[in-house]
Amino acid sequence: MKTDVVVIGGGPAGMAAACEAKKNGAKVVLIEREYRLGGILNQCIHNGFGLHYLGEELTGPEYANFWVQKTEKAKIKTLLGSVVLSVEKKGEKQVFVTVENENGIKKIETKAVVFSCGCREKPGPAINLCGDRPAGIYSAGEAQKIVNIHGKMVGKKVVILGSGDIGLIMARRMTCEGAKVLGVYEIMPTCGGLLRNVSQCLNDFNIPLYLSTSIVKICGKERVEGVVVAPVKEDFSFDLKKQKFVECDTVLLSVGLLPETELLFNKNLEESKTTNSYVVNEFYQTSEKEFFVCGNVLHVNDLVDNVTREGLKAGECAALFATKTLPSRNKIKVLFDENIRYVSKSYVFKGKGKTSLFFRVTKEMKKVFINAYSGGEKIATKFCPVVRPGTIEEIEIDKSKLGKDLSLKVEVAS
Ligand SMILES: Cc1cc2nc3c(=O)[nH]c(=O)nc-3n(C[C@H](O)[C@H](O)[C@H](O)COP(=O)(O)OP(=O)(O)OC[C@H]3O[C@@H](n4cnc5c(N)ncnc54)[C@H](O)[C@@H]3O)c2cc1C
Repeated sequence: MKTDVVVIGGGPAGMAAACEAKKNGAKVVLIEREYRLGGILNQCIHNGFGLHYLGEELTGPEYANFWVQKTEKAKIKTLLGSVVLSVEKKGEKQVFVTVENENGIKKIETKAVVFSCGCREKPGPAINLCGDRPAGIYSAGEAQKIVNIHGKMVGKKVVILGSGDIGLIMARRMTCEGAKVLGVYEIMPTCGGLLRNVSQCLNDFNIPLYLSTSIVKICGKERVEGVVVAPVKEDFSFDLKKQKFVECDTVLLSVGLLPETELLFNKNLEESKTTNSYVVNEFYQTSEKEFFVCGNVLHVNDLVDNVTREGLKAGECAALFATKTLPSRNKIKVLFDENIRYVSKSYVFKGKGKTSLFFRVTKEMKKVFINAYSGGEKIATKFCPVVRPGTIEEIEIDKSKLGKDLSLKVEVAS
């Protein structure tokens, strides 16, 4: 089979990318390993999706359905129950994608590939969790799938480790299903998830959040019987004098997500030191021109609306690259100060129009300006009452104002 653009992953990033690539005149194949489109949204039955993009708060499945209908209307060739095993570039605009499904293994020849494979949860061993390994330890997303998709409860007395959004949402979900959530324990001094989730998922249900506190060890033979928790000092060692035992039968881990980048391994791509993924320019194009990356496989997003915007741009640019050409001159590296952990796009191009840069800060700061400088001039500015590592920030750059350089700074308002 031959096509212009292959999109790998049928979550919100992939569906948006496929629709936009088709709209821009490309022949598209969308590949998803599950038997339905939607990705992680299918198990997120809470609302809070699409507020910015659609102007209404939908549940995950409702937001997914909006895009499934668009994909169907656009008549995009979609392979479900199909796993992409490998992607090999053979020449300029010549890439082979190997797919396996119930009909066997086949190769698709394409000019460009959009990787929208999402991310996966960090498991317990990745954080050196001490103690026993009885039944009753789940990652929060796995528990979400069991409860929301398979309709089964995972426990009655629950402790949650990590205050990322999935942990917060599962604290509320388990409570609504009749479990007692004894607390969310967070090693860092600030919450990892969105403030709206702290308010709606913890405060509204009287679930305590213990900051700078973590699990020292898990106890239990057959099933979890409890955890030992203790405050964490500034050097991240435990204050064991203050340790205490919390009786519970279930531990949910919400300790971070890792972009699912395996298909991009060993491709000589420029890596990002901070996102566990790869560097892209404003077209979501990697240093290998045929490969585009967007959504959670690029960086872990907090809002699906931004994932959709990334997918749309990546799809449009992959189609332009495959069928015509994409500009590659006047490339400018995006530099940033120590208050910024990463910026999603590492290069922008001087020219017409605007481009949005998404980024995360390193620490919570109040009353700050996000400023963009080029050629010694301030070319964009935005006031934020508060910025937090758990929330992605955005600044829009007018590309016609770009000089030879671009740097982003988070500066405290005087
Ligand atoms: C629990 C949870 C709660 C959230 N709550 C909110 C919220 O309230 N509001 C909000 O705006 N956002 C929320 N988000 C964030 C948002 O939903 C995600 O950022 C977004 O859905 C990610 O989309 P994606 O397309 O990048 O990845 P995914 O949705 O993960 O899709 C990736 C797809 O790629 C497929 N895939 C991967 N590898 C292969 C392969 N080799 N071959 C074929 N297919 C493959 C996977 O099966 C999957 O379907 C939440 C996220 C989570 C996890």
